Amino acid sequence: MPRRILFTPGPLSTSPTVKSAMQEDLGSRDRSFLEIVAQIRRVLLEVAHLDPERYCAIPMQGSGTFSVEAVLSSVVPRNGRVLVLVNGAYGRRMANICQRLSLPHHVLECSERSPHDPAMVEATLDAAPDTSHVAVVHCETSTGLLNPVRDIGAVVARAGRSYLVDAMSSFGGMDLRPERWNVDYLVSSANKCLEGVPGFAFVLARKAALRESEGHARSLSLDLLEQWKGLERNGQFRFTPPTHCLLAFRQALVELEQEGGVKARAARYRANHVLLLRGMRQLGFRRYLPPENQSHVITSFLYPAHPRWSFQRFYDELNSRGMVIYPGKVSDADCFRIGTIGRMDQQDVRALLRAVGETMTAMGMDSPAQGRQHSWAGEGNTGGPGPA
Ligand SMILES: *Cc1c(COP(=O)(O)O)cnc(C)c1O
Repeated sequence: MPRRILFTPGPLSTSPTVKSAMQEDLGSRDRSFLEIVAQIRRVLLEVAHLDPERYCAIPMQGSGTFSVEAVLSSVVPRNGRVLVLVNGAYGRRMANICQRLSLPHHVLECSERSPHDPAMVEATLDAAPDTSHVAVVHCETSTGLLNPVRDIGAVVARAGRSYLVDAMSSFGGMDLRPERWNVDYLVSSANKCLEGVPGFAFVLARKAALRESEGHARSLSLDLLEQWKGLERNGQFRFTPPTHCLLAFRQALVELEQEGGVKARAARYRANHVLLLRGMRQLGFRRYLPPENQSHVITSFLYPAHPRWSFQRFYDELNSRGMVIYPGKVSDADCFRIGTIGRMDQQDVRALLRAVGETMTAMGMDSPAQGRQHSWAGEGNTGGPGPA
């Protein structure tokens, strides 16, 4: 099969060495396997600058959502209530999880184009003293927007509530400080910026908070405290572990270190993002978010207002060139998304930009870069509302 490059929010491209690390069948009680699990748990804490005295890493089978659901279903007491901060699809998903679990919750929603305001969170908590937990998404992968996790954490801590952060698409791709930001539960997955293969996710939990959650779990398989206790007791997962994914993940962590750690990886992703923005602007595309709210993880671009535009055609043409992009996920504008995380570099982004240029020609959409200015071409990519 020809190589495909995934410019998506996940699954993401992984290195050949990460994939080939899976060529081994290990028993779940095998001594070397248990040592690998222990090592992974240690390194995850190091990546997050967390003290193993106060925090623990809990890998959990399933995709990222399973671990978000594991936290929500496990740590909220019967008389508790979750405040879910929503400004995109992943925040909305957390509210959906609460709804399915019949967890008492309320939602603070703001525009998908703007980050949450810590002062609003504070006012909402003041008005709802029964709120025990606050849940927020760090990088809203539906747009690429970053929420001010640190400042919200200060408000949550001052109000004496517990704090859950979905850092799925930012952890490993940005230098995060969960302890300084008062995070009790941080969730991320093997197959986002840590560049492992999909199959499990993990929770970095403050032990004191986790211990207090005794008896709150509503799920057997997603019981976070039980998962932790099992790992502490005998180093094992409670149910069949994703052995091959863990082998791949160990290799992915080695490659993170070889790259120079999170800061170097963040610099690679940022360079990908900057190059992508410049190239897409030259091709006439405009981004959805104002620049100050935009992360280097993923970028939403507005559909061009051109009679020949068709996202399906655009997607298929790019796909046939080995470039996988993603549909948009915002409610108030037609967008598509291009991710700049995973095992890719500027050469790959340049290849994508070439493919976008070819695709536009194939679709009969001349780009300004080809010398003809069209009405849909944005002058200056200010991220303002689209021409459509
Ligand atoms: C990828 C992602 C998830 C989890 O998605 P899965 O498909 O369950 O892995 C959750 N939140 C955010 C912000 C994400 O980017």
